[in-house]
Amino acid sequence: LTTFTDEARIALDTLSGRATGLFSPSLRLGVTGLSRAGKTVFISAFVHNLIHGGRLPLFEAQKSGRIARAFLEHQPDDAVPRFQYEDHIAALVNDRAWPDSTRAISELRLTIEYESASGWSRMFSSGKLSVDIVDYPGEWLLDLPLLGKSFADFSREAFEMAVLPVREDLSQAWRALSAEIDPNADADEMTARRLAESFAAYLKACKLDERALSTLPPGRFLMPGDLEGSPALTFAPLAGLGDRRPRPGSLHAMMDRRYEAYKTHVVKPFFREHITRLDRQIVLIDAMQALNAGPGAMADLERAVTEILSCFRPGRGSFLTDLFSRRIDRILVAATKADHLHHESHDRLQAVVRRLADRAVARANFTGADVDVVAMAAVRATREGTVKQGRETLPVIIGTPIAGEKINGEEFDGKTETAIFPGDLPEKIEAVFDISGSDHRQDPVDPAIRFVRFRPPKLERTAEGVTLSLPHIRLDRALQFLIGDHLA
Ligand code: GDP
Repeated sequence: LTTFTDEARIALDTLSGRATGLFSPSLRLGVTGLSRAGKTVFISAFVHNLIHGGRLPLFEAQKSGRIARAFLEHQPDDAVPRFQYEDHIAALVNDRAWPDSTRAISELRLTIEYESASGWSRMFSSGKLSVDIVDYPGEWLLDLPLLGKSFADFSREAFEMAVLPVREDLSQAWRALSAEIDPNADADEMTARRLAESFAAYLKACKLDERALSTLPPGRFLMPGDLEGSPALTFAPLAGLGDRRPRPGSLHAMMDRRYEAYKTHVVKPFFREHITRLDRQIVLIDAMQALNAGPGAMADLERAVTEILSCFRPGRGSFLTDLFSRRIDRILVAATKADHLHHESHDRLQAVVRRLADRAVARANFTGADVDVVAMAAVRATREGTVKQGRETLPVIIGTPIAGEKINGEEFDGKTETAIFPGDLPEKIEAVFDISGSDHRQDPVDPAIRFVRFRPPKLERTAEGVTLSLPHIRLDRALQFLIGDHLA
């Protein structure tokens, strides 16, 4: 009965969404990516550049001068927190500090008034488009495959992943604790808590480790949102369950029930209320960090992108997914932070992302939406220059490293502008994916890639004291793909 009600509600939501869409054209744009991928910075730069008429030559409507104005309006969903745009811009522009990252779902409505490109459309169209930007943690999305998995499946897969060479040492404490526990013993709250805490500590360690591993479910263990400390999160996979049915009253039965409750009360509503209503999606990835960490981390990132893409086209045959798969028609996989590389490497970074996305699309057996890729910097924190070294002239990037960042033992104070030779991505992109041999923990492909975090850029002011919009790399290309056709 629950399933039926869920599906009926989605149908109604979708129909009413489409109907209202006729009167006030709106586009729901999902912005996701694992934590620190660059969602907050992307949305802030996206909105700031549109409101302030930024330099966007690849965004056709802006380039041809058809955008009359862009402004923020009340968002349509009262129950969803608002994306704190003003705070984030104040941090970026006034303090030259990166804003607080995404921790839960939020929403912002940007309305664009424009003139249609063709005279025919000008007669009929309102020339107004509202873009509802929905920011949410990719970790939550990676929970969706759980809907199709039993507690036994979830447990088995969690242990399989945990013994991969790349995770083996990080998961050791949790596996040792699990080995001591008999799933068939009587349910006990303290045991459940110890297991859940140990499992969560392992998942967090994967994320924080320099190997930069992508996330494993359950996503709320890493990004709890408003469920922080809640009993809904007090469960963990159990070892050696096989096909055994849980004995009533056992730890196994208790964990099984909590896992099912997590799916019903956390995962399903999120999917139903937010994901199925999206029209377009951008998936941000931190390819720079994965490249820096080596091929094992690249393989892991590819797995995460595959799983993320599968979420936008879950298994066939259900009423819910049929309805859903018709809606998202474009997905952009975007690597941000390209400003850490000299422009000569931007195309290589994009080729790396293309290859990663192509393989993910093939593995997820994904069809039904256009998938494109871009290597960009939503906010460009560096400029380019050259430095003479002996007879050679080397391309460098120039920026202000964040206080405390180090290169070759030198520590930066957060105030001094510095030129850094960032190194190149290899010409043969296969090298960055090469995990031949059983040891996934190889050295980074090119140890010469130097990765320092920079402060956001100082904005130029015009003679009238007006601050110009945030500089970027290829943000306009992303905008064109994501919303350009709706402004035609
Ligand atoms: P979120 O967790 O996905 O919301 O990630 P954020 O948007 O907060 O970005 C995480 C961090 O990545 C920021 O604090 C910045 O240090 C860095 N970052 C994100 N986007 C850019 C970018 O376009 N350029 C540079 N240089 N750094 C970025």
